[in-house]
Amino acid sequence: MATTIISGKEISKAFKDRLKKSIELLKIQKENDPNAVFPGLAVIQVGSDPASSIYVNNKKKSCEEVGIVSFSYTLDDSATESELIELIEALNVDPRVHGILCQLPLPKHMDEFSVINAIDHRKDVDGFHPVNKGLLSIGRDCLVSCTPLGCLMMLKEMNIDICGKNCVIIGRSNIVGKPLAALMLAENATVTIAHSKTNNLKALCQTADILVAAIGRSGFVTADYVKPGAVVIDVGINRDPDNKVRGDVNYDEVFEVAGAITPVPGGVGPMTIAMLMQNTYQAYLSLTQS
Ligand code: NDP
Repeated sequence: MATTIISGKEISKAFKDRLKKSIELLKIQKENDPNAVFPGLAVIQVGSDPASSIYVNNKKKSCEEVGIVSFSYTLDDSATESELIELIEALNVDPRVHGILCQLPLPKHMDEFSVINAIDHRKDVDGFHPVNKGLLSIGRDCLVSCTPLGCLMMLKEMNIDICGKNCVIIGRSNIVGKPLAALMLAENATVTIAHSKTNNLKALCQTADILVAAIGRSGFVTADYVKPGAVVIDVGINRDPDNKVRGDVNYDEVFEVAGAITPVPGGVGPMTIAMLMQNTYQAYLSLTQS
């Protein structure tokens, strides 16, 4: 059977188009309301790391595409943690802002946990706040981290059956592996999280109906890790010495074995941004309708 390419590029476009329509409708409905507020996302960047600047610009561009108002804040590298938290606290009470995103990583003199904790969890569109993490782990509605949510949405949009399937996730980070495990468990998959200390990793991966690689090592997952016909989701974004972006999966090899596979680029990456837009809209609805 031919291998299906799961195009995050196409699926994310469909998500953003739907969102754009909902926001256009909102604008029509509130046309005559002088106090109308529309979905707004505040993006904070501390310092001028070039990779962070690219991510931040892509997020602003996506806001424009779907009709979300974006507010942009750049703090100097030398800004203190208190200054950043002061800004976050002002945004927490700003009625024009429904989502607050602080681009990571932060400079070393700042404590990421304290900064994330300062964000009103109802505006935590990255889904990193401990309240959202806790709600996710007990299966309650919450803002879910964008990358794992994007992985789940791709599977759903492709009508891939998750219930009862063996899902192996390589990677146990707080932003990808762990929240994805909670999402897959909620979909009734049998979930195993693997990491750098896992014994017999290859044999474990061969049991997976759905294999997710979130490792940060270019081409780590080769064809011999993959059960024939398995669905392979590649979260990795690695810049190789030839300056090309590659995933954690050896795409060419694994394509020959897998039943379905996400490419890099054009897979999980664009889904992450689409989910950020969706989370901002969701936060807007819950903040304005409560
Ligand atoms: P982390 O570095 O936080 O976590 C990597 C995980 O991989 C760790 O749990 C680590 O194990 C595990 N690991 C490392 N080496 C091995 C190994 N040899 N065998 C088994 N497991 C191993 O990374 P992130 O979760 O933040 O990101 C993972 C990848 O996803 C990166 O390439 C990142 O760039 C990409 N990414 C992509 C996004 C997107 O939008 N597409 C968004 C976020 C991340 P241990 O815990 O034992 O150290």
